[in-house]
Amino acid sequence: MTDTRTAIVTGAARGIGAGTAQRLAADGMKVAVLDLDEGSCAGTVDAITEAGGTALAVGADVSDPASVDAAVERVVAELGAPTVLVNNAGIIRDNLLFKMTVDDWDSVMAVHLRGAFNTTKAVQQHMTEAKWGRIVNLSSISALGNRGQANYSAAKAGLQGFTKTLAIELGKYGVTANAIAPGFIQTDMTAATAERMKIPFDDFIKWNAEQIPVARVGQPEDIAHTVSFLVSEGAGFVSGQVIYVAGGPKA
Ligand code: NAP
Repeated sequence: MTDTRTAIVTGAARGIGAGTAQRLAADGMKVAVLDLDEGSCAGTVDAITEAGGTALAVGADVSDPASVDAAVERVVAELGAPTVLVNNAGIIRDNLLFKMTVDDWDSVMAVHLRGAFNTTKAVQQHMTEAKWGRIVNLSSISALGNRGQANYSAAKAGLQGFTKTLAIELGKYGVTANAIAPGFIQTDMTAATAERMKIPFDDFIKWNAEQIPVARVGQPEDIAHTVSFLVSEGAGFVSGQVIYVAGGPKA
């Protein structure tokens, strides 16, 4: 690698995004830690800088194209043109179909699908100019179908199609696009699911671990490790793939 790469990780204030931002910084990249509220990015940015890395907190709503364009411009000015993008920002609005509102549907689509579209559209120009780029989209095992997640599973399956199309369109510019489909990862998102189901989080973790072949739930570092591989220099022939990181064929 000649120059230090600049990466943008969305939804990086906590959970998988925070773990991924820290890992990419440890790998030697300058990292834009992007989340809805700039102030909430401080913990991730501090962890990176305390470890000797370079990071920038950026507040943006990925579902809003103007907000994304302004954020990317700031990253270009303060860290350099981004050539690594991890579309990780996500929300859940779970409910059985008959109780799911149009707002539940639209808000999940807006963050996961329109969000990934907005950020990728804003960043791709820097990748194609550099004739090098790496895009990683966070899908989910829920893409295979999951009770109470008609909106989320549709969005996560949609991201897989989006990823494969990016791989086809951008490959000739040295840009790869891949998706990671995590199983159960211990974060605030799964804690919120446990709360909604009125199950103590520790019990929920234990029950889920029993369903997973490697007999444990995942941690943000498990996903960060896979992102690190997919955005590495040597992974240039891996594109359009969906990697299930779930402790088994699927969790
Ligand atoms: P998390 O702990 O809930 O973190 C998600 C982050 O995304 C939060 O910091 C959130 O900000 C941010 N975000 C939400 N809407 C946003 C928007 N419009 N613009 C910018 N940032 C936004 O979730 P996680 O568990 O780390 O999950 C990360 C990704 O992995 C998600 O795409 C999720 O669907 C996927 N995933 C997770 C699991 C799992 O088991 N945890 C499994 C499969 C896939 P606020 O805090 O301000 O809302």
